[in-house]
Amino acid sequence: MAAKAVTMEKLVALCKARGIIFPGSEIYGGMGNTWDYGPVGVEIKNNVKRAWWKRFVQESDNSFGVDAAILMNARVWEASGHTTSFSDPKMDCKECKSRHRADTLIEAHSKGKANPDTMTNAEMEAYIREHEVHCPICGKFNWTPIRTFNLMFETSRGVTDESQNKIYLRPETAQGEFVNFLNVQRTTRAKVPFGIAQVGKAFRNEITPGNFIFRTIEFEQMEHQWFCKEGTDGDFYAEYKEKAWQFLLDLGFDPAHLRFKDHDKLAHYAKAACDIQYDFPMGWSELNGIHNRTDYDLSRHQEFSGKTLTYVDPVNGERYIPYVIEYSIGADRLMLAILSEAYDEETLENGEVRNVMRFHPAIAAYKAAVLPLQKNLAPQAKELLAKLKKRFNVIYDEAGSIGKRYRRQDEIGTPYCITVDFDTLENGTVTVRERDSMEQIRLDEDGVIAFLTEKTAF
Ligand code: ATP
Repeated sequence: MAAKAVTMEKLVALCKARGIIFPGSEIYGGMGNTWDYGPVGVEIKNNVKRAWWKRFVQESDNSFGVDAAILMNARVWEASGHTTSFSDPKMDCKECKSRHRADTLIEAHSKGKANPDTMTNAEMEAYIREHEVHCPICGKFNWTPIRTFNLMFETSRGVTDESQNKIYLRPETAQGEFVNFLNVQRTTRAKVPFGIAQVGKAFRNEITPGNFIFRTIEFEQMEHQWFCKEGTDGDFYAEYKEKAWQFLLDLGFDPAHLRFKDHDKLAHYAKAACDIQYDFPMGWSELNGIHNRTDYDLSRHQEFSGKTLTYVDPVNGERYIPYVIEYSIGADRLMLAILSEAYDEETLENGEVRNVMRFHPAIAAYKAAVLPLQKNLAPQAKELLAKLKKRFNVIYDEAGSIGKRYRRQDEIGTPYCITVDFDTLENGTVTVRERDSMEQIRLDEDGVIAFLTEKTAF
């Protein structure tokens, strides 16, 4: 199946060549693990975010969106626990000075058999010592002890040095949803259970970023917090696992490339937690998380802010702090999974190999490409283009043979190519070629609009 034809090298090369993703600050020699989305990539990523929002906000009976500030009062991160415990176990190789995560070293050395999630720092050090885990960069065995390293990016605010205060770039979007719990509840008159969703940037000073856009220091998260009454949390946890899974299937993922993975070690406040993993080009890794966070977040914010975050049931007057089921997925990480899943190299009957990105039409950057069979048909093609642009994101291409133009669209995953030919002048119909089957049908203008409306919906 598609995902297996792909390697990370091929994906990175295709993304760069086709305007999907470029290395960040490239003309200055780059800036490690930052990436810029190009003209095609930004469309795809916007479609990914839109599909998620449609599913989890628009189509939900009781979920509402927010767009909270990235810079939040520093007390937020004390309440959430990030100031004290949002850290990774870091080890430096004394020989080559490279920096590593102890848990990653153990996972790689044991080929996934040992589980560092259940180990203390002392146990991880002992494992690395006893198994003589060598530095993956220089091959030597000379480590510093483990040091914990806070992943939050710090900055400061204030106009003079004396008034500077330390603040942080948010390492997750979730807290913007928690601190607005009562604002949203009051203004929407929502009754528990209800959800708050947010899509936005998050920043983490990761020790070992890498694998293209899988782990970066700046990324976008799509997070949904479902507030519910204690006792109903187990059912909602199961429901969100199912919804998260179904969302991926509806995007076209092969279920054989997905699996659930329960967390072996739960955070002290969590009642249950699992990830959905995807079979990425570098192996099975976390795509999203679903967590039962109990009433921890709202209780902590109530304690630290001194403001009540208690919900009052309008029917029976009962007061309580709701439990939270969190569903969290990285937009960039999902994009990498979608790119990997969509990538295919198809050998055609004539022996030629075509590169094709088999995106769900709703995710593809352009819903269709309008192509005049010959340049002298450009006026008619542009007329159709202008009409379609009012409704869909479509692109125009008149350069090169029609075969070459089809291939270019296949490579960026455009699901339909609409060719204006000499019959168009006679009877107003055009050819619509489907990307995956390469089959062609003829439709008139209204037919094209109805066809694209139906086929590109999510
Ligand atoms: P990991 O174990 O991979 O570091 P995590 O468990 O810390 O991830 P969460 O804090 O639960 O991740 O974040 C939720 C989601 O945000 C992840 O499932 C992932 O999709 C995305 N994400 C987290 N960190 C990064 C990152 N550095 N780069 C890109 N996406 C990320």
